[in-house]
Amino acid sequence: MKMKPEVEIYDTTLRDGSQGEGINFSVMDKLRIAEKLDAFGVHYIEGGWPGSNPKDIEFFAEAKRKKFKTARLAAFGSTRRKGVSVEKDEQVRLLLEAETPVVTIFGKTWLLHVKEVLRATPEENLAMIGDTVRFLKDHGRFVIYDAEHGFDGYKQDPEYALATWQAAAEGGADLLALCDTNGGSLPTEIARITATAQARLPVKLGIHTHNDIGLGVANALAALETGASHVQGTINGYGERTGNCNLTSVIPILALKMGKRCLPDSSLRKLKELSQFVDEIANLRHDPRQPWVGETAFAHKGGTHVNAVQKVVHSYEHIDPTLIGNTRRVLVSDLAGRSNIVMKAHELGFKVASDTPELKEILSRIKSLEHEGYEFEAAEASLALVIRKLLKHETAPFKIEGYHVSIRRDRSISVCQASVKVRVDGITEHTIAEGDGPVNALDQALRNALVKFYPQLKKVRLADYKVRIIDSTAGTGARTRVLIESTDGKEEWGTVGVHDNIIEASVQALSDSLEFRLTKR
Ligand SMILES: [Zn+2]
Repeated sequence: MKMKPEVEIYDTTLRDGSQGEGINFSVMDKLRIAEKLDAFGVHYIEGGWPGSNPKDIEFFAEAKRKKFKTARLAAFGSTRRKGVSVEKDEQVRLLLEAETPVVTIFGKTWLLHVKEVLRATPEENLAMIGDTVRFLKDHGRFVIYDAEHGFDGYKQDPEYALATWQAAAEGGADLLALCDTNGGSLPTEIARITATAQARLPVKLGIHTHNDIGLGVANALAALETGASHVQGTINGYGERTGNCNLTSVIPILALKMGKRCLPDSSLRKLKELSQFVDEIANLRHDPRQPWVGETAFAHKGGTHVNAVQKVVHSYEHIDPTLIGNTRRVLVSDLAGRSNIVMKAHELGFKVASDTPELKEILSRIKSLEHEGYEFEAAEASLALVIRKLLKHETAPFKIEGYHVSIRRDRSISVCQASVKVRVDGITEHTIAEGDGPVNALDQALRNALVKFYPQLKKVRLADYKVRIIDSTAGTGARTRVLIESTDGKEEWGTVGVHDNIIEASVQALSDSLEFRLTKR
């Protein structure tokens, strides 16, 4: 039975989150994150601002073909410009063309901004809000109105702020999200103003906060306790300056501390994985000190007697870390690892139970790979291959027997050439290809060799390639991790390779990508 959530989660990682310094998502990245968020169970995914860049228009064109299970996709934009009728406003037209069920528009609450930034009269601003909401409602959209600078505006002129919100409500807005855009408000202010809005307005309220003074999460909770039932934020708190309200904290707090229904418990157990996945796609190191989901969030510097620690440690923890998919670090017990792997294997389509004889070997293989620097959160295809190899005892569909890469530079032109020797069913195939880089040339050569045996690989293409230098762990030097995203036009998958040498790491990830496509019939 699906119960109605008490609090709705609105994720804006792909829009507000992508404003963060050092964050740059490709269209493919955005699609993969959107699918992950949908599987996790968030209620809304804000995909981007079609009026601000062509990449977001492309994202919505691609997203149209996807079926989302729980999330509703939202396009983001602003109210119409001043002095232009809403029907003629180009940016509003693009919002409709995104063909999303939900449209979120922001408008001005703060008179200072209306007068000095917009250079509009207070009345014209009210008309801009009302017109745009009404127009989008007339076109059948679920409309969320984001009241930009909601709290700062209210502090300057409460009656005018309320009038702008009233204009959105009268236009037919389905939800009004109050925004602490500059991120400088205090929880007591947020609570007071949200309660007033709740008492004065006939519309459901949401909250959108920023973390400029470290109160992004606290401010969102203050609003949720005083009348809001919808929270906007980003995974890992990505966002401009110091970031947005961190959903990776808000979600477990709602469920485990405030007892408010928002997502199924099964989602909660995937929280850490989601957090790591998004960091991997953003090519950012996962913050070990991040509350709830960081590696050290439940690490204890314990004594040597594991048994005693196990008894005592519980009294030093605010929750059981497995509820959110994290683990206690003193005793990364086989059991915790075991149940995680069983859960993961199921998701990937394997029949594995806690008494499957191969489980022990699978677990130890994954642990040793992780120790070498592999990370599988965004490379589930590689993980699936590891499990498959140990579980099914099948031989691989091909074997790379050798390769050679050379780079030649003549004056201003450099050419990469790769040759690959592959063995399939006792036949050895040798191919040579050129490319604009060593990985591209290797990819071409490997594919040319294999399509003769497996024509289905023709459609596979390398969509994204990310490289990270990983820390030296005990006993190893610095290593290179390569993450490859591939697609066959229908599905996307990620694979990983780790080695001291970037080319070898790339070959591993390339080989996994093609092998995954072949094993997935
Ligand atoms: Zn924002």
